[in-house]
Amino acid sequence: MQQKITIAIDGFSSTGKSTIARKLAKELGYIYVDTGAMYRAVTLFAIEKGFVGDDFYDEKKLVSNLSQIKLHFVFNNDLGFAEIYLNNDNVEKDIRTLYVSNFVSKIATIKEVREKLVEIQQEMGKDKGIVMDGRDIGTVVFPDAELKIFLTASPEIRAKRRYDELIDRGDKVLFEEVLKNVTHRDFIDSSREISPLKKAKDAIELDNSEMGLEEQFDTILSYVNNTIEKTPLDS
Ligand code: C5P
Repeated sequence: MQQKITIAIDGFSSTGKSTIARKLAKELGYIYVDTGAMYRAVTLFAIEKGFVGDDFYDEKKLVSNLSQIKLHFVFNNDLGFAEIYLNNDNVEKDIRTLYVSNFVSKIATIKEVREKLVEIQQEMGKDKGIVMDGRDIGTVVFPDAELKIFLTASPEIRAKRRYDELIDRGDKVLFEEVLKNVTHRDFIDSSREISPLKKAKDAIELDNSEMGLEEQFDTILSYVNNTIEKTPLDS
């Protein structure tokens, strides 16, 4: 029997964290959790309830209604990953619009939102055997994770990846506005007071600007295998 470990994957927006984390979880038979989807679902809730919009922002109302938010993931066999549900509605597609992306980083600065989501994330990972991706996984959610990866890539390459994704799903967006969103989110995520995006001291940094998916996957899988080998069975 192999020791199950916790794998934390953090990094800037659109570095391909989810793609690699999902593939890794499938290979290892681990649970995969996309924490960005959780912050996006809270943002969607705030938009739908009218707490947040183009020219208004009511943080107090959102915070006092946080207990109304129920999040859960359901594995979709056809897609091969777990989709997020907000109050029993599948919102996997609705949370990926540029409109939600434009508000999510501001919502993610709210202390009460982070506390609620971090608690759920820690509960999901308490038995290990988990790959979780986000911004604060290696620093705050699982500071003791056996393996921490920090992904980076140039802003233009990341924006191009996100732009292609949005165009593929039929959204009408301009490359310039996607680039602006990506760099703006990086700025808010890295400079916020609570749990800012930063590389954990013991994380391995990987710049995937020039790497294909297979090369990245093989590289990270070798880190995983080394880590599992070094981790005693009952730790
Ligand atoms: O990963 P994704 O780009 O979908 O995340 C959306 C946003 O959610 C990020 O830009 C960030 O503001 C926030 N986030 C966070 N902490 C996490 C995951 C995401 O603050 N662990």
